[in-house]
Amino acid sequence: MNTLTIESTLWHQLASQVLDGKPINDEQALSILESSDEEMLDLVAAAFRLRHKFFGKTVQLYFLVNAKSGLCPEDCGYCSQSKLSTAPIQKYRMLTPEQLLDGAKVAYERGSKTYCIVISGRAPNERELQTVETVVPLVKEKYDLKICACLGLLTEENAARMKACGVDKVNHNLNTGREHYAEICSTHTYQDRVDTLNNVRRAGLELCSGGIVGMGESRRDFVSMAMELRSLQVESIPLNFLHAIEGTPLGKHDDISPQDCIRSLCMMRFVNPTSEIRIAGGREKHLRTLQPLSLYVANSIFVGDYLTTQGQPPQADYDMIRDMGFEITR
Ligand code: SF4
Repeated sequence: MNTLTIESTLWHQLASQVLDGKPINDEQALSILESSDEEMLDLVAAAFRLRHKFFGKTVQLYFLVNAKSGLCPEDCGYCSQSKLSTAPIQKYRMLTPEQLLDGAKVAYERGSKTYCIVISGRAPNERELQTVETVVPLVKEKYDLKICACLGLLTEENAARMKACGVDKVNHNLNTGREHYAEICSTHTYQDRVDTLNNVRRAGLELCSGGIVGMGESRRDFVSMAMELRSLQVESIPLNFLHAIEGTPLGKHDDISPQDCIRSLCMMRFVNPTSEIRIAGGREKHLRTLQPLSLYVANSIFVGDYLTTQGQPPQADYDMIRDMGFEITR
């Protein structure tokens, strides 16, 4: 048996271990990130066994609206909306309920399962909370859409208000590993983010939380984030690949290969086999022609644009999904 065959068998053994209900450990997760390009197809095939077991060949689409852009007092190094950024982005205050309802129409017409209402800022103010409380029942009345709200840090009380108005889940990304967090942000802590996720859970909402690959983290940092997401039992994990924006502190980071993206997605799938895994920002830029391969591992994508960067045209996503024999489900 040559080396490739022995290593190939290992990924399927690991998938069998997970399917038998035995979670992988840190070292096993690390070995996925360290695997060679030659092993990639076998690694993907093993990860696909997990994806197929829990999600079949379905793909869930998300559509997001940047409901308030820029003007943020925080200093997250990757973000074009932070106070540190000089990137030329649009800046505006909270959209009106009517504008947000228009966004829901687009989300529905594009076949999305979930409409994400995202605002910049450390935490929502009263007016922003009230806008969400006004629009969510209107969206629910008109469209068969789930709502995910991404509003920054939330108290348990504010999370309960979101639950009461019909929000289904709240997004709040861990972004990176605990040890690395201070390198990318100084105005709030990793624990602040974990606290928000716990408040959201206590309010009875689903959790959406993921991270960004390519911010100078070590592989162990990334594994640590994946393990934390597992311990929080996060239902939905968006994995971004840093789309470095000039004018942000991380604007010069640009060193993720398509193969690294695939390995990252595989590691996340092995650690969180039952979670929806969404290929988020940076998909088109970093995965490039390997996008179709990545859908054998992840089961969700954003259709349309991201917060301050453009996605590919929706038709390209529909074509890709159809050509692979996968199926969009709400
Ligand atoms: S990620 Fe959110 S909190 Fe951080 S700077 Fe950007 S908008 Fe502000």
